[in-house]
Amino acid sequence: MARPVLIAVDDEKEVLRSVERDLRRKFADRLRIVGAQAPDVALNVMRELKERNEPVALILSDQRMPKMNGVEMLEEADCIFPNAKRVLLTAYADTEAAIRAINSAKVDYYLMKPWNPPEETLYPVLEDLLDDWFAEYDPPFEGIKIFGHRWSPETHALKDFLARNQVPYQWIDVEHAKGDPDLDRLVAENHGKLPLVTLPEGPCLQNPATAELAERIGLSQVGLSSQAKSEFYDLAIVGGGPAGLAAAVYGASEGLSTVLIEKDAPGGQAGSSSLIENYLGFPKGLSGAELARRARDQAHRFKVEMLSPQEARSIGENNGYRTIELGDGQLLSCRALLLSMGVSYRRLDVPGEEKLYGKGVYYGATLSEAMSCADERVVIIGGANSAGQAAMHFCKYAREVLMLVRGLGLSDTMSQYLVDRIQDTPNIEIRPHTQTKGLVGEERLEKIQVAGPGGEETIECDGVFIFIGAEPHTAWLGDAILRDDKGFIVTGADVLEHPRGKEVWPLKRPPMLLETSMPGVFAAGDVRSGSVKRVASSVGQGSIAVQLVHEFLREVKA
Ligand SMILES: Cc1cc2nc3c(=O)[nH]c(=O)nc-3n(C[C@H](O)[C@H](O)[C@H](O)COP(=O)(O)OP(=O)(O)OC[C@H]3O[C@@H](n4cnc5c(N)ncnc54)[C@H](O)[C@@H]3O)c2cc1C
Repeated sequence: MARPVLIAVDDEKEVLRSVERDLRRKFADRLRIVGAQAPDVALNVMRELKERNEPVALILSDQRMPKMNGVEMLEEADCIFPNAKRVLLTAYADTEAAIRAINSAKVDYYLMKPWNPPEETLYPVLEDLLDDWFAEYDPPFEGIKIFGHRWSPETHALKDFLARNQVPYQWIDVEHAKGDPDLDRLVAENHGKLPLVTLPEGPCLQNPATAELAERIGLSQVGLSSQAKSEFYDLAIVGGGPAGLAAAVYGASEGLSTVLIEKDAPGGQAGSSSLIENYLGFPKGLSGAELARRARDQAHRFKVEMLSPQEARSIGENNGYRTIELGDGQLLSCRALLLSMGVSYRRLDVPGEEKLYGKGVYYGATLSEAMSCADERVVIIGGANSAGQAAMHFCKYAREVLMLVRGLGLSDTMSQYLVDRIQDTPNIEIRPHTQTKGLVGEERLEKIQVAGPGGEETIECDGVFIFIGAEPHTAWLGDAILRDDKGFIVTGADVLEHPRGKEVWPLKRPPMLLETSMPGVFAAGDVRSGSVKRVASSVGQGSIAVQLVHEFLREVKA
């Protein structure tokens, strides 16, 4: 972004050169210093800067100049850059004119010539004024912008995608920006179709698919692409949460050609956590986004190929290798495969949920929505750690956070450190023994219907965030991999204990610790039957899985 400008005006060439030199010495790191040898030249420069959207922070002008004096020039400058700070350089004889100009030309300060030494006279005055100017300066955002309605599921999906990939963006709520001529023109040019995404350089995209957006914004720079470079890998990993990322880092660092397939953004559920406080080595906790970014960068450094956003659709076997069909039809083969697709929240089966999903009703913390909830009432459904973290995050923005808990309270389901914090937070209210009966609204969520110890009640609210039970992402596996009655993948000794285990398992040896019912296919993290749903255990299993992959590869080579 262009640095703000400081304009110096003096008709005497030598004086101008000297003032410019002194200004550059002190301010060149944060300002662009521009000199003008006449008031009309200075005003033209200002008009051009205005046209180019470049801000002017300060104008320093000599008073005595032919044709137009400093005060007159500063008065005109006020129409072009009303927020710029104004300083007059005067001779002793002009003091009175300078004092009068403080009101008429909104002069902020007048300085006597000569200004030597600048450290004592010039710099302290200008620094003070510039500090004020910078404090109020709201630099124009030059990155990716999303234009859309707050209650549009498509807008939410784009915001969520960028947030989860740690891509900075600005969201413009078109309702609030109505009447802005630039916005009106943009919307008209796109025939009123929303949401729109504008990139710093390049075209305006109408409700782009995430894969297209990923290509356009250059996620390849951080190692992400939806296209595989090869058709064959030693190790393929489905799911880029903590388990998959850990396996990718260990696998690639130990010399396996490794591909990781992730349908949304690397980080998984952990990436949506506002603050993970129980992960070893981070005494003050770290945000899920930060953990995801670090893990993604580490995998990139070890040359893991990360296909994201990209989905695995089916798996199979061919000639002793495992195969994966991707969402866009690409077919990959690998020696060993790790399934680490994790879980996502179960849908809340109440009237209104389907209609209002994405329009005020969300699953998980969706951190991108938190800031939109300023001064509003939000409801969190659930009583586990993830719900508790979300409550602690939302209470910083929302006026009131209401937690609806089905059980007696939080202690049974939530870590004590979170329970204590929630109880100490005045704008979080916990409603135990309370169930959701319905979600109400037309264009957006307006109310939630609940039933609690006091009977049925309808509560007005602006957002509902749901954290109830987990469902594994395993439906797409078909019959290929044995699962328990809740859909979680069975591994190790449990495979042969499964009613169909002995019939399905083809080898003489029993399955290895994290091996599934298909030899050479392993599972790690939350997707495994009986797993501990924690970041550390997922990371642990991801790394153990790589040891088992090595063992399997030795076995098939022998
Ligand atoms: C809000 C929240 C807060 C949490 N806080 C904590 C905490 O403080 N401490 C803690 O220890 N744990 C916490 N957890 C739990 C922890 O995040 C999980 O246990 C952990 O992320 C599980 O890791 P995983 O790799 O097994 O699966 P996930 O993190 O679920 O990742 C699985 C990934 O697989 C992808 N995927 C699924 N299907 C496919 C497919 N077909 N193709 C391609 N990709 C696919 C998903 O998009 C996802 O990114 C929290 C969870 C949540 C939701």
